[in-house]
Amino acid sequence: MTQSDPIFRLEGVTRRYGNLTALDGIDFGAEDNSYIALLGPSGSGKTSLLRVIAGFEAPDTGRIWFQGRDITDLPAHERGIGFVFQNFALFPHLTIFENVAFGLRNGATKVPDAEITDRVRASIDMVGLAGLEDRNPDQISGGQKQRVALARSLVMQPKLVLLDEPLGALDANLRERMQTELRTIRERLDVTFLHVTGSETEALAMGDRVAVLDAGRIVQYDTPDAIYDRPIISDVALFLNRFNLFEGTLKDGSFHGAFGAAPVSSVRANDSDVYAIRYDRTRIFDTDASDLPGPALPVRYLASEYLGSSIIFLFETADHKTVEVDHHLSLGEPRDLSVGQNYILSWDPAQAIVFGKEAAQ
Ligand code: ADP
Ligand code: MG
Repeated sequence: MTQSDPIFRLEGVTRRYGNLTALDGIDFGAEDNSYIALLGPSGSGKTSLLRVIAGFEAPDTGRIWFQGRDITDLPAHERGIGFVFQNFALFPHLTIFENVAFGLRNGATKVPDAEITDRVRASIDMVGLAGLEDRNPDQISGGQKQRVALARSLVMQPKLVLLDEPLGALDANLRERMQTELRTIRERLDVTFLHVTGSETEALAMGDRVAVLDAGRIVQYDTPDAIYDRPIISDVALFLNRFNLFEGTLKDGSFHGAFGAAPVSSVRANDSDVYAIRYDRTRIFDTDASDLPGPALPVRYLASEYLGSSIIFLFETADHKTVEVDHHLSLGEPRDLSVGQNYILSWDPAQAIVFGKEAAQ
């Protein structure tokens, strides 16, 4: 990937609502022509961040740059940044065509009718809605409304589009299809998408890079692979929903937890001692197995769940903590387990990620 200028950049952006700090000193930017996913739990500040970039809210401190220009004091309608709202926010009394044309008809500069027609048709085409121009929003499906909201933003030819949980209202099948389509549309248009989501699967699948927001701070900003392989703090590992996390004590180069003691080669700074092993790196053994690759965690088998390409096995430990094993079907047939039986879970300790209060090593 070539190095290019950021399309937008935030410097020390803070936004407070009364006593609550929704955005806490955000430094953040994105390369031009990229797909950025912004991942965070509900209330972490995702919408606030988009609203500040769009200009619907002013930051209390900090500056916002867009295309090399300081836009902190520029009104929203002069920024040229697209926004796709969580609830689509279509005009119910206008046709699809007129919904998409709205920004062009009501902008600061007059756009000739012939150009409006061309651009609206091109946008409607781009999102796959050709033929539906004369319908009203109540005559199309949820997925189609989502596309209208996108077309309405794209028709303005923005260099940056902010999408607030754009797939949240869609059912699972449609959501997956729209993920692919959003990526394709963005690639064709040479535009940057900043896509907010609360779903780690969606963020990791869609973003060229993923920013993880936690309580108003960006705690990690990296490629999906790096975030998946090396979450920077245990909160990110927890939020990714792909790790078994164990509390315990880190001492003299080993971690002491429910699985006994495991050797530790490196430690990431964290506010508590946490041991993390990915679901798909955790393996199942009989209680009398003698060939364990590492620590031994005694568990009882609860249930399994098919997820298409893999099976998730659920276990519980002696202290009633649920532990998951993800068996990818490309690795062969999963073994037969009996519900209620005891097993041992083990893993290669080199594949664990250890977080510690004293990240000395
Ligand atoms: P997210 O989109 O990640 O769910 P938000 O940005 O909507 O988070 O909200 C972040 C925090 O700021 C939340 O605690 C929310 O209650 C608070 N908040 C957001 N908007 C306002 C507002 N207009 N007035 C008061 N508090 C707000
Ligand atoms: Mg929100």
